Amino acid sequence: MANDENPAPGLNFIRAIIEADIQAGKNGGRVHTRFPPEPNGYLHIGHAKSICLNFGLARDYQGLCNLRFDDTNPGKEDVEYVDSIMADVRWLGFDWADRLYYASDYFDKLYEFAEHLIRGGKAYVCDLTPDQVRQYRGTLTECGINSPCRERSIEDNLGLFRRMRAGEFPDGAYVLRAKIDMASPNLNMRDPVLYRIRRESHHRTGDRWLIYPMYDYTHPISDALEGITHSICTLEFEDHRPFYDWVLDNLPVPCHPQQIEFARLNLNYTVMSKRKLLELVEKGHVRGWDDPRLPTVAGLRRRGYSPEAIRAFAETVGVAKRESMVDMALLEHCLREDLNRRALRRMAVLRPLKVVITNYPAGKVEEVDAENNPEDPGAGTRKLPFAREIWIEQDDFREDPPRKFFRLSPGKEIRLKHAYYIRCDEVVKDGSGNIVELRCTYDPESRGGWTKDGRKVLGTSHWVSAAHAADAEVRLYDKLLSVPDPAAEKEEKDFKEYLSPNSLEILKGCKVERSLAAAKPGEYFQFLRQGYFSADPDSTPERPVFNRSVTLRDTWAKIEKSQREK
Ligand code: ATP
Ligand code: MG
Repeated sequence: MANDENPAPGLNFIRAIIEADIQAGKNGGRVHTRFPPEPNGYLHIGHAKSICLNFGLARDYQGLCNLRFDDTNPGKEDVEYVDSIMADVRWLGFDWADRLYYASDYFDKLYEFAEHLIRGGKAYVCDLTPDQVRQYRGTLTECGINSPCRERSIEDNLGLFRRMRAGEFPDGAYVLRAKIDMASPNLNMRDPVLYRIRRESHHRTGDRWLIYPMYDYTHPISDALEGITHSICTLEFEDHRPFYDWVLDNLPVPCHPQQIEFARLNLNYTVMSKRKLLELVEKGHVRGWDDPRLPTVAGLRRRGYSPEAIRAFAETVGVAKRESMVDMALLEHCLREDLNRRALRRMAVLRPLKVVITNYPAGKVEEVDAENNPEDPGAGTRKLPFAREIWIEQDDFREDPPRKFFRLSPGKEIRLKHAYYIRCDEVVKDGSGNIVELRCTYDPESRGGWTKDGRKVLGTSHWVSAAHAADAEVRLYDKLLSVPDPAAEKEEKDFKEYLSPNSLEILKGCKVERSLAAAKPGEYFQFLRQGYFSADPDSTPERPVFNRSVTLRDTWAKIEKSQREK
């Protein structure tokens, strides 16, 4: 999206910085980015934006992009997350080749650098309690107070730090802090903690370490060791940039990457923080990290999103320096744009109503031609069996039709897509008055859905032959939350209070074209008039299961227009 921060269409502010750097010969004209997830959860659409941005820049400037796990927080991190992150990045279409790194690979180096800082009088071991550290830090309006440990001798600091590492002290007894400036207007510069004691097993280094480096200390060093040129992160790290630079300015690192911040992606009607996503998963509000209602990459994939649609979405939202809320309708719009071009059209009856065509010979089956995708003549056609008994959608019939009901009702005629005109002659009900069957007659002259006399019908319905249909389960989804932004609600309630009760509807006994029983996840279909669908990983040929990825109605154009007018 073009805005005042984007200098020219297609050239967002980050690209402008990179192009200027290339022109000035900075970093020898190299572009080297990284995507640095913490393996403490599954990736979500916000991460996908960051992946598209970092890998996209590397691609467009003939550079490189590393995948680096920022695994400095043992306890919260897990190999399950590492594996899922790699799978998601690959699925999104990006390749880190042989550049897979872990911050934990640098633990030795980080330790050496910490001793280097101590020897230079730039770090000290502090025994204030976490509460005291907070008190001494001061506030935005008040200077901090120097720790009584600040003037400890270099020898004492080295000795204590080594004993911290050797496990001589309990967790929390000491921390290593940078010695910067307790009067700095930037709280992050008031002697931030570099290392803490933590007796926790790490998923890669096991019990080798009892002290762990802080993220803010680890990140710039990892970037520098990997030769990163542009270290792109989200806006909340803007205030951390002085410390990022301080670390690199005070250590003998091979280079000094430039940190650039952009606004994180926010999407309405959903949750995006890993903490909240984890809570929904752990408390069973959803079926797992890949629940199709979640904005996780795994959830979107299971729902039937294509990587192409997600990449297009990331491109469309662009990068900005201001936080904003992106409408879910835009993400859905990007999926429709992609699938409209390539999804195979199929007929599926979600809530079936039996139709018996009384003047069609019992036992006769004929095949009608159906196009696979009107948007793509190359997709060809298929043969659909047509017979005396078919299923149509319950919604496509009304016994007492309101005005402007353009479908089937007693005495009225409609077209069956790709097949014939049928007229409803009789409504059959069960003992309780429920409609169980329609008895209709067809016009044998209307094959293909057209008549010689050109008479008009009210509408066109999709259908499947009863004898040839497969039974399927279809899962329909709605927004995860019932409000666009829980934080903007007047009453402050826990976000879970806003979980929509209608986010999942399961339909069983749907009737679909037989060939759909063999559908696999990652194949995309448009069920005529119902939306885009994809087979769930639970699907088997005996028991096909489909997820509705998105409906056909595109609300984005309207929302975009109203936003422009604001
Ligand atoms: P969350 O806040 O959702 O828990 P995080 O920032 O803690 O996410 P990380 O694993 O640290 O998650 O993120 C890896 C990378 O993805 C970081 O560079 C981060 O800036 C970026 N990122 C995370 N969330 C978003 C978002 N909503 N929009 C854009 N980039 C994001
Ligand atoms: Mg983070």
